[in-house]
Amino acid sequence: MDPLDAILHHDPLTREDLVLLLGLREPADVARLRARAQAVTRAQVGDAVFYRGLIELSNICACDCHYCGIRASNARVERYTLDDAEVLDAARWCAQAGYGSLVLQAGERSDPAFRDHISHLVRRIRAESVRPELPQGLGVTLSLGEQPRETYRQWRQAGAHRYLLRIETTDPGLFARIHPPEQTLARRLRALADLAGCGFLVGTGVMIGLPGQTLAMLAEDILFFRDHPIDMIGMGPWLRHEDTPMGDWEQPLAAADQLQLSLNMIAAVRLACPDLNIAATTALQAMVPDGRERGLAYGANVTMPNLTPVHAREHYRLYEGKPCLDEAREQCRGCLMGRVESVGRTVALNQWGDPPAFARRTGDGTPVWPAPGDPAPDAM
Ligand code: SAM
Repeated sequence: MDPLDAILHHDPLTREDLVLLLGLREPADVARLRARAQAVTRAQVGDAVFYRGLIELSNICACDCHYCGIRASNARVERYTLDDAEVLDAARWCAQAGYGSLVLQAGERSDPAFRDHISHLVRRIRAESVRPELPQGLGVTLSLGEQPRETYRQWRQAGAHRYLLRIETTDPGLFARIHPPEQTLARRLRALADLAGCGFLVGTGVMIGLPGQTLAMLAEDILFFRDHPIDMIGMGPWLRHEDTPMGDWEQPLAAADQLQLSLNMIAAVRLACPDLNIAATTALQAMVPDGRERGLAYGANVTMPNLTPVHAREHYRLYEGKPCLDEAREQCRGCLMGRVESVGRTVALNQWGDPPAFARRTGDGTPVWPAPGDPAPDAM
């Protein structure tokens, strides 16, 4: 076996293996990484691609992340919140289209009115999306930032069962450079632990190609995913937004290198954490039109078609170059089905599509957080 083949079959992969895989650039080497990731995907999670209809509920945000276009201090954003009728219409459409699950995403707010509004929406979405093909209604994923544990518990009880909260980077220095001082890595870890403790399937992820980020840091991120009770990964390239403090930071990688690194990262996560769900994110498609299909070819098995009403989409702009700003959901459905099939995968309709990782790990449903070696919860 040649050295690259040997590494591609290492179990477990070491930090050094991961650094080497992330850094692959030669087309022949990259093709072998992609082929191995495809084989592991098929064996561990199957051919099917799961859909999550994405509803960008509101761009009102109390946080000031230095990279994000909807940060609180960006006065040039026109703020909106979808009304309930729009959300429920999108949810019903999602169920009828056979997508099986939806994601409610918004900027971060933690006032009681917002908390209760989300609970109300989750209950109505679950109840009003029941169909013969979907007897429990849509699976609901939330992506609403850091919240008090009690809020997570309330939303879990309302019927949401998955939650996405990216760690953004596990490197403490880099995390501190891209966030204001009140947002800390310790708090993010605490929130992830709380989510697992409340019974959510937990999704996390990082941005790729941040200034100052090294391959070793990305390798550490992957080891973090592997060693914690994570069920889903959503990662994508960091893309500049001009109205943010990072708007004039130099993009450290050329676009083609950042794209390849993002794809290598998907493949490396698939090899290190074989039975998780991995999303092919919109930010990949912002880099190249077929970015999401490329993500699927490197081991992703989830994609998130945008169901946000067209009038709101342009106001939920996290970075420059957001794709599909004016594409109606019907057009998007046809386009995406074709794109998934073009890479030889099938679309899983009318299923929640939870990853095998959750059942394997929890067995009796008990999450295992913190992982060995983490600080005690009180210290986080
Ligand atoms: N407020 C929730 C939260 O913080 O988790 C959900 C919305 S937040 C905008 C969703 C994700 O967008 C973040 O976790 C971040 O990784 C990503 N994001 C924000 N700005 C970005 C940028 N300029 N480039 C790439 N991704 C970005």
